[in-house]
Amino acid sequence: MTLLQVRDLNKSFGGVRAVDGINFDLHEGELLALIGPNGAGKSTTFNMVGGQLKASGGSIRLQGQELIGKRPRDICRMQVGRTFQIAETFASLSVVENVQMALISHHGEGFSLFGSARKRYRQQALELLDQVGMQRHAERPCSELAYGDIKRVELAMGLANDPKLLLMDEPTAGMGPEERNDLMALTKRLVVERRMAVLFTEHSMDVVFAYADRMIVLARGRLIAEGDAQTIRNHPKVQEVYFGTGKTFENELTDAQVQV
Ligand code: ADP
Ligand code: MG
Repeated sequence: MTLLQVRDLNKSFGGVRAVDGINFDLHEGELLALIGPNGAGKSTTFNMVGGQLKASGGSIRLQGQELIGKRPRDICRMQVGRTFQIAETFASLSVVENVQMALISHHGEGFSLFGSARKRYRQQALELLDQVGMQRHAERPCSELAYGDIKRVELAMGLANDPKLLLMDEPTAGMGPEERNDLMALTKRLVVERRMAVLFTEHSMDVVFAYADRMIVLARGRLIAEGDAQTIRNHPKVQEVYFGTGKTFENELTDAQVQV
């Protein structure tokens, strides 16, 4: 079943067409990767779906309901989740407390973790940690965790609003190959278990080939290819963007940015 329908989506920043008329669908229980070189428009697309950026034109429908014009909080209430980096200030809190914060925030409640609030949503937080394999680290401060484990906690926090659609912007940035694989395997498992759809961005292709059900490739704001790993790997336009020589997309983008 189609969950998200994106049509003729546009975003301009001054003279730069960051996203230039893209169309794609995302289905229930699907892990869809949005790939492309730096500056391709991945984060911009993402932030329009989440409501952090307002589109210049087009439509983004979640089960038929238009998301453009809605505030991020309202989109979150429609069970669109996203992973955020754990803020520096919360690194001293324990793992479970960070997940409790995400649950408290989702329920629109105050942020205090003192007194009786310390117990609020604790059980749900522990259950979410269990889903990402981090329950045994629940009482450790986040500041002590390995990088890959922090990403797991961030994933648990992204599940706080029981998302039908989870948005992950470069979830594996800064990770080594093994950690990347672990996180993608975990994400894939959650997609299957929860029947959740995931839209994630990634600039390296090797990770996504192994785990994504389908990929869409952006370059300079345009959607240049769409399909499974096999299709994308052999797609001439994709090869040009990733492996081509001469005038690269990044060079062109840099030129365009200089003019702004
Ligand atoms: P990606 O995530 O694929 O690396 P982005 O979506 O961040 O790409 O950026 C796409 C283009 O839009 C780039 O040329 C970038 O410089 C430009 N851009 C992104 N955000 C802004 C902004 N807030 N103001 C001006 N230009 C922006
Ligand atoms: Mg980006």
